[in-house]
Amino acid sequence: MARAAASKRIEQLRQEIRHHDHLYYVLDKPVLSDQAYDKLYRELVDLEKEHPDLITPDSPTQRVGGEPLKAFKTVTHKVPLMSLEKANNEEELLAFDKRVREALNNKDFDYFLEMKYDGLAISLKYENGILTQGATRGDGIHGEDVTTNIRTIKTIPLRLLKEVNIEVRGEVVLLNDDFIKLNEQRADNDEPLFANPRNAAAGSVRQLDPKISSDRPLMFFPYYGSPQKGIQTEDKMREYLSELGFKLNPLWKYSSIEEVIKAVHNLEDKRGKLDYEIDGVVVKVNDFVSQNKMGATARAPRWAIAFKYSPMQAESVIEDIQVQVGRTGAITPVAHLQPVHLAGVIVKRATLHNEDEIRRKEIRIKDHVKVQRAGEVIPEVVEVIKSKRTGHEKEFVMPQKCPVCGAEIFKPEGEAIARCTNATCPAQVMGRVRLFTSREAMDIEHVGWALIDQLVDRKLIHDAADLYTLEKADIMKLERMADKSAQNVINSIKASLDRPLERLIYALGIRLIGRRTAQLLADHYHDIDSLAGAQEDELSKIHEIGPKVAASIVTFFKQKGNRELIAKLKRAGVRVKGQGSRVIGPLSGKTFVFTGGLANYTRTSAEELVRKLGGSASGSVSKQTDYVVAGTDPGSKYEKARKLGVTILTEKEFEQLVGKGG
Ligand SMILES: [Zn+2]
Repeated sequence: MARAAASKRIEQLRQEIRHHDHLYYVLDKPVLSDQAYDKLYRELVDLEKEHPDLITPDSPTQRVGGEPLKAFKTVTHKVPLMSLEKANNEEELLAFDKRVREALNNKDFDYFLEMKYDGLAISLKYENGILTQGATRGDGIHGEDVTTNIRTIKTIPLRLLKEVNIEVRGEVVLLNDDFIKLNEQRADNDEPLFANPRNAAAGSVRQLDPKISSDRPLMFFPYYGSPQKGIQTEDKMREYLSELGFKLNPLWKYSSIEEVIKAVHNLEDKRGKLDYEIDGVVVKVNDFVSQNKMGATARAPRWAIAFKYSPMQAESVIEDIQVQVGRTGAITPVAHLQPVHLAGVIVKRATLHNEDEIRRKEIRIKDHVKVQRAGEVIPEVVEVIKSKRTGHEKEFVMPQKCPVCGAEIFKPEGEAIARCTNATCPAQVMGRVRLFTSREAMDIEHVGWALIDQLVDRKLIHDAADLYTLEKADIMKLERMADKSAQNVINSIKASLDRPLERLIYALGIRLIGRRTAQLLADHYHDIDSLAGAQEDELSKIHEIGPKVAASIVTFFKQKGNRELIAKLKRAGVRVKGQGSRVIGPLSGKTFVFTGGLANYTRTSAEELVRKLGGSASGSVSKQTDYVVAGTDPGSKYEKARKLGVTILTEKEFEQLVGKGG
């Protein structure tokens, strides 16, 4: 397309895409089908490829992170981000009210209330409606320039719906569900866990590699806009921010402190059920004239106060302490509690982390304890209420033998975690097979945890490779297994034979190897034997692979049991070759999921076609899925795809994409 025409079309496309992004991410009211949206987006990408000089930073295609940074630049906030006075009880709120009324000579005014998010405070600068800078609060005066990272947050508009100059401040948060998933992933990768969603949000924004922050589904909620002509109150400012394209949460306006107090308690009762963490409520005088009249002290405005909620804690009794054995043999003590209500859910168990932690907190069986929960994560025991001890409490003794297999438990010098030393321990086998079959690994849809536990218990399998030699008759002997469900199990195991190499590498459960590293290794080695034969120095030369990871890989493949496992997997027909030996085609790098009945293909033949063209096929939908092809009577995969915003194709559209028909 000629440059002038392209330029015009690009602008049109960007406007349309922005409009639909706003409907989708901010208002939760998409009007366009995923296919139609994707078409617009692809057209824009193609035109920008053709005319790279027309790419501007506010283009919707420019959300994906660029190169990693060495360090963040420092930003000086012209108007410092101040702290807030804090109130911990009603009396302090009443005292605040008294100060406000005196300062305003008892003139009529309203209070404005909004949630105090537990996240990372960010300041955004817009010039003529275009995002030019994002910075952390820092110490209030000096923050860090995190523009590249916050650009990946979908609820932060790259371009506002009006061409204005404004500074917007707000909080970046991670939803509780996403927090749990992130920690599960990190646990799998042997990475340290985030203590709470706030740390996770802050850690994600303050990532020097924007690709990592773009992987994490962060949200932005604004609570401040710099002065704008004609806007005189907090509630009008929020309305205006919403008109500019920001996502707003509920906010409230009241004319008396009594109403405020009622609302503060109301919200406290509900906060365990919110999708995100809040640690309190902020109460502000609503109109800016009164705010200016009251002014600020050296560190905080006089017209606002933060009511802090106490942490989500409850009291319970430890009935017993039992240990769990994980995939790597790690022994984790868990407190079994008298069930207790905690911010909307019933808690029965709390993690005690490890033996040292139990000693440090002096926890005994039958102790009364304070339990705390952040998000929906497993609660933890904060402290023992020693004043309630009766003398009948019992010290917990870490078992010397594995409670599952009876093998020796070994705790290496200087490490916190004790481990079962028996690699064939059923608990470890179950853990390893669970990882192997999981959606992120070999994606074996019909083999769930309960089934794995039975298979291991009955010695029908001793490792993941044994899954492939199972017969329908074996499975039908198990509980609640009818003919059809047994067949589903067998089919889904068969379907996993041809998963991409990176999935197999991840599925092996090599210590320190997460999905990202597995992908790197698959890209580099192309088949499992070359990887198994790699030396430490050679591995370390791969970008992003450090000496620890390299050593872990070599150690894994040195072990006889692991080498036998791989030989067994090969004999079973599991694909052990990767991308390098695969066709590079028009679908390279794209993942497809098929659901429902297709007119011209069986599931297998459709998947083969995708692979022939360089793509890959998966049994279940995730954020990594590029396309879901929906035939007749599509099931839950279709819904899931819609929810995740994955592009959904009809069979006809699929055929057009692969160059047949249409
Ligand atoms: Zn064991």
